[in-house]
Amino acid sequence: MEHRKGGCHCGKVRYEVEVDLTKPVVECNCSICGGKGLLLSFVPTEQMTVLSGEDSLTEYRFNTEKIVHLFCKVCGTETFARGEGPDGKATYAINVRTLDEVDLATLSRMPYDGKAL
Ligand SMILES: [Zn+2]
Repeated sequence: MEHRKGGCHCGKVRYEVEVDLTKPVVECNCSICGGKGLLLSFVPTEQMTVLSGEDSLTEYRFNTEKIVHLFCKVCGTETFARGEGPDGKATYAINVRTLDEVDLATLSRMPYDGKAL
């Protein structure tokens, strides 16, 4: 587990998270993840703190509307989404591309066929 910080492009939204980057990140091919290029790591709510910019976040929901895709209304970056894990616990899906100084080449990726859902 690593303690990392991240945020959106313009800097309004900042967060800190305990994240396990040895775990494969989820690369989903659905129309939203594919279009945004999201690479996701899932963490329980207790491991995530929004440091600033909560009031700059705006949300987008589609399909079952269970996943709340949050993005900065100034620069449009999706930093994370909120939802529920399979066990019903509140979960954050962190877009690992928005972590500070993350080396994407070192991460292993797990394809997820969201398009088929
Ligand atoms: Zn921003």
